[in-house]
Amino acid sequence: MRGLLDKPVQFLKGVGPRRAESLARMGILNARDLLYHVPRRYDDASTITPVALAQVGMDVTAVGVVRNQGVVPTRSGLRIFQAVIQDDSGIITCAWPGQPWIERNMRVGDRILVTGPVRFFHGRQIQPREHTLLERADAGSKSPGTASRSTPSETGTIFVTYPASEELPQWIFRRVIGQNLDWLLRHVREEEYLSATARGELGLTELSAALEACHRPRSMNDKDTARRRLAFDELFFLQLLQARERYRATRERPGIVFTRTNALIRALHDSLPFTLTGAQVGVLREIYADMTSSRRMNRMLQGDVGSGKTLVALFAMLLAVEGGYQAALMAPTEILAEQHTARISDLLDGLPCEVGTLVGSVTGGRRERARARVASGEADVVVGTHALIQEGVEFHALGLVVVDEQQRFGVRQRMALAEREPRPDVLVMSATPIPRSLAMALHGDLDLSTIHELPPGRRPVVTRLAGHHERGDVFRQVAERLERGQQAYIVYPLIEESEKADLRAAETEFARLGKEDLAGRKLALLHGRLGGEEKDGIMRAFLAGEIEVLVSTTVIEVGIDVANATVMVIENAERFGLSQLHQLRGRIGRGDQGGLCVLIPGAEAGATERLEVLARTTDGFEVAAEDLRIRGQGDFFGADQHGHGPDLRFADIVEHEDLLALARDRARGLVDEDPGLKHNALVGMLLDRRYGDRSKLFEFG
Ligand code: ADP
Ligand code: MG
Repeated sequence: MRGLLDKPVQFLKGVGPRRAESLARMGILNARDLLYHVPRRYDDASTITPVALAQVGMDVTAVGVVRNQGVVPTRSGLRIFQAVIQDDSGIITCAWPGQPWIERNMRVGDRILVTGPVRFFHGRQIQPREHTLLERADAGSKSPGTASRSTPSETGTIFVTYPASEELPQWIFRRVIGQNLDWLLRHVREEEYLSATARGELGLTELSAALEACHRPRSMNDKDTARRRLAFDELFFLQLLQARERYRATRERPGIVFTRTNALIRALHDSLPFTLTGAQVGVLREIYADMTSSRRMNRMLQGDVGSGKTLVALFAMLLAVEGGYQAALMAPTEILAEQHTARISDLLDGLPCEVGTLVGSVTGGRRERARARVASGEADVVVGTHALIQEGVEFHALGLVVVDEQQRFGVRQRMALAEREPRPDVLVMSATPIPRSLAMALHGDLDLSTIHELPPGRRPVVTRLAGHHERGDVFRQVAERLERGQQAYIVYPLIEESEKADLRAAETEFARLGKEDLAGRKLALLHGRLGGEEKDGIMRAFLAGEIEVLVSTTVIEVGIDVANATVMVIENAERFGLSQLHQLRGRIGRGDQGGLCVLIPGAEAGATERLEVLARTTDGFEVAAEDLRIRGQGDFFGADQHGHGPDLRFADIVEHEDLLALARDRARGLVDEDPGLKHNALVGMLLDRRYGDRSKLFEFG
């Protein structure tokens, strides 16, 4: 189903094939795109100075019609373009020293907006920092300067500025949008999918009114209210896409209804030398509720490193095993899989629950035996890597899949395990805490359980910033810790001298440290270009204590647990994201000696205040919220695992978190009632229009 707004932009008034091509280069293909091409800047009348009142020394924005213009040479050879502009209050000269080429783009009769300081030079003159051609002299039928009532901005006193390009200057946008706006607004009314009641509940403007307010605001407030409406639409359709995926994953076909006997769960509880934290109990309640219902679980468990997620996952796995099923835990690396296996085997010692392992490096007869244990059901809990999803791996009765450190796996891999019959429940563990708003925007298809508390008695990692000149002291502290038998990480952003000369590369430093600050110590260099086996070898040696100092790039980011490693030095710390730094320091929070993390900004690093956040708090959620605030949502969406996350132009998930929650609830409610959108055809069509290409990404085969 296509609406009139799908009409190619070429057939609109004032647009021919040439302009249509230029518009296409800006992503404007059809009438709707043009309607949604909203101004990037608004200047209120109160911020516009009548030229007669522009005083020397002020910085002004003025709007006027060009009465006279030309290039004036000066004795020094500088060529100055000058234009005299007029508004209702009088005239003033504008001067652009050294920019004679502006003459080519400006005509007498043009209406322009200028912003800049007022100087004195043979009289008052504005020296514009910025200028915008609002209207071309030949616009409309009336004489220049009065031909203003047809352009979008003129109903009120707010001047709008569109995103424009070299080929398509401002005045063209203003003219073309002005000529077509009424028509566009009339037709966008057919795309209003919210009833008046719904709008009332949500506190949102009607769609065409919102778009009109964007193009012809009557007040500055007007356009903010309008933006909220457009933001809601973006968030709603994003959530709708995810709500449909959630429905497909959890409801379309029933999930396993696990029977909880408590046989294993109680035994594990009783054997633990500690009690679960309130947060662990809380998330387990959510997980058990999903697992014992016919709704299939598709849940993300997030919490800081060390918050006890793995233990929670183990309880979930025991519930599956109690109910007669197997559970699988998929880790991103072999070493991690081995660590999980060892820890889980310890915890399950003496319980009637068998642990199996499947990793890629185990081959031949041993692999066949491991696979056979999985296929026969002899292994109740199976820990592994990608090897779990390889061809030929058969489970007897897989009931639950736990994916560790999910950011390393694509959705497809996650689902590859989960798509077999009977459809196992899915629990995704993430040790990169993200704010609620970001979780909603990126993982709206998953339900979210959050552990917001660390087990008691942990000594938090102490983090401090050190100046470049303090490096000697820092390494002396490292050496002292080594003397006491502890181990250290030294982290660099790169492995080779980069084009940035100030970057202290890990290789150079590694050599230097071994000869100077840390002479006589066992150091190893770990970086991304080493082969898998080499990396594993180094990690194992570090784990065994044969290596005391691991000099490394961020490849240690995803998790290894070496309880004896207590100190971390991060060089050029300003080059890392805050969340990444937080991840890194999580590596030394494991033991009970108390970890120390020292951040050393590069010698030429600029402002490093944002690093103070890490010294101030050890709460990963707080760090992540700050990171989001500083970097903005785009950065996080770009890092989304399938390479194109949500594309939000109007919505800001921090500013509009309330809208995001409303959009999610509404989208989920709608999909639960009408999963195929059969009774909501307009919504379905609009979803398809926004995400037609992308919704395919969520189909697995
Ligand atoms: P995560 O997977 O979130 O990084 P783990 O589950 O590996 O955390 O737990 C980290 C450490 O804390 C483990 O040694 C674990 O046995 C211990 N632990 C987990 N829960 C508690 C608790 N409630 N009280 C004390 N220690 C706990
Ligand atoms: Mg873990």
